[in-house]
Formats: sequence, structure tokens, C-alpha cells
Amino acid sequence: MSQHLAKFRDYIWYNGQMLAPEKCTVNVMAHTLHYGSGFFEGIRAYKTADGRVAIFRLQEHVERLINSARMYYIDCPYSKQQICEAIITLVRENKFENCYIRPLIFVSEGFNTISITNDTKVNLIISSWQLQASLPTVSLSVSSYRRMMSSQTPMQAKAIGNYMNSMLIRNEAKAKGDSDGIALDMDGYVSEVSTANIFLVKDGIVYTPDMSSSILNGLTRQAVITILQDANYQVVERKIARDELYISDEIFITGTASEVKVCTHIDRLVVGNGDTPVADFVKDEYQKAISGKSEKYQKWLTYV
Ligand code: PMP
Repeated sequence: MSQHLAKFRDYIWYNGQMLAPEKCTVNVMAHTLHYGSGFFEGIRAYKTADGRVAIFRLQEHVERLINSARMYYIDCPYSKQQICEAIITLVRENKFENCYIRPLIFVSEGFNTISITNDTKVNLIISSWQLQASLPTVSLSVSSYRRMMSSQTPMQAKAIGNYMNSMLIRNEAKAKGDSDGIALDMDGYVSEVSTANIFLVKDGIVYTPDMSSSILNGLTRQAVITILQDANYQVVERKIARDELYISDEIFITGTASEVKVCTHIDRLVVGNGDTPVADFVKDEYQKAISGKSEKYQKWLTYV
């Protein structure tokens, strides 16, 4: 097996079959390859404190996947239950203890024009691999690229085309020496990081851009809001002006891959005085939740 396929281990789930990664091929005239007509998820499985393996918020991720395609009038050919079972089988058969899981709906045969018709074949592929460890903190800068708005393209869909924008945001920030960029929405308010949501803390109150700020309503974002509210923090979802970033006491980002990460610098300015009590609390609680140490949040785990 070629070196770059080895990380996917023994199997990729492809339209109902568990196949060796090198057997998973795609037609070069696939609609998705030409027009970016695909939808994906990023899900994680973790080894829990009792030695088992659990998938975090599996049902919600699969629901979002099906809904992403739905917003483009594409029916996923598999049910929520079938996809959840496929993911569990894949993690088990690949013998992962910690992994990232990537379901991808894409459109292949039946290529004609930009239109997708009832004859166009809709596929689902699910791969899994181990994520590399990443730095615990990030430095961010405001991007020159804006986040699209829902009148242009559905922002609640994890559509692969949206990630061209994310790629430009990330690459521009990296070229400046930062870890990632923050996109403003089309009205100039803070939206989100390339592939993560953003939170600010000011005077003990937690703020995050609301749903009308072109964000993806991240599942980590929702979990973090629940964790904060359960601990009696006030969380305000509203429009956030760019300048509020520069006078925040704390900034942190959330996402399946990022988990919860403190932002140390924003546009080269140190965030607050460097103390991050709220972010540290969220980080700890989130770690407890994903590792099965929190009774209250067991509901977010599906054991493999
Ligand atoms: N925004 C974007 C654009 C993303 O790609 C992601 C990652 N899925 C997030 C936010 C965070 O979402 P989640 O917490 O569900 O991973």
C-alpha cells in the first residue's frame, strides 16, 4: 500500500462496503470533482477513562451531514442509523483508540451539466485516521477574506465548496506567521475562524457571534455554551464588532479538530493580561466530557 494511504489503516467504508483504501477509486468525470458538490463531517473518537472508545456527538454530526446535502436538494442514500452504524464499525475494525472520522457525500456518475438530477449517483465514503498532536494555543489575525452569507450559499451546510474560503483564510494567516485567520461577515462583524468558532470573554461574560453572523453552528460551540451555562456563566450570542477582539480579556476557539484552544495574540496584540480562567475552565470540562469522566455529559458519547 502506498505510504499516504497507510494512515487510513485497513478499511474505508464506501457505499456500504468495507474496502481496502487502495480499492477506493472515483471516476474523473464525477460531478463533485468539477463543481465542488460535496458535503462532509469531521467527527472524533476518543479513548475514555475506563478504557473503552467513544465517539463524540455522533448522532448530531450525522444529522448535520444529511442536512448539509438536503440544503442542496441532494438526498443522502443512507439513513442516520445506517451511517452511525457504519462509523462505529469502521472505528472498531480499524482498531482506533483515538481518531478523526470523515464522512463525505459526493456526486459522481450522471455528469451532464451543473444540474444534479435524479439520475446522478450520490455516494458516501467514510474514512478515519489519527490526528497529529497540535499546539495548545493559537495566534489569530483578522482575514482580508470575508465569510459568505446565507443568501449566497447555505452556511449551515458543511459543503466542500465553502472550504475554498476557509483555505484562503488559513493560508493568508499562515503567510503572516499566525496560526489561523478570523473572517468577518459581509457586514464587517466577527464571524468565525477558518474551521472553528470563536468566543470572547469580557468582565466575566462570554460572547460569541450569533447565527446571523455567517457562522457554522459548531457542535463544539453548542457543547461549550452548555458547559458554560451549566456552570452559571452568562453567554451572549450577538453581533461582535472587530474592535471588541482587541479589548477582550480572553479569546478562545472551538471545533472538533481544535477542541478548545486559547488565542494568545490577535493581530499581534497580546490578548488580555495572559490569564485565561474561563477558557481553562471550559478546556477542562470539555476534556472531561470527551474522555467519559463527566456523568452529566455521557449523553454526548456513543461507545464503540
Ligand atoms: N466553522 C467551520 C467553518 C468549521 O469547518 C468547523 C468545523 N466543523 C466549525 C466551525 C466548528 O464546528 P464543530 O464544532 O462542529 O466541529
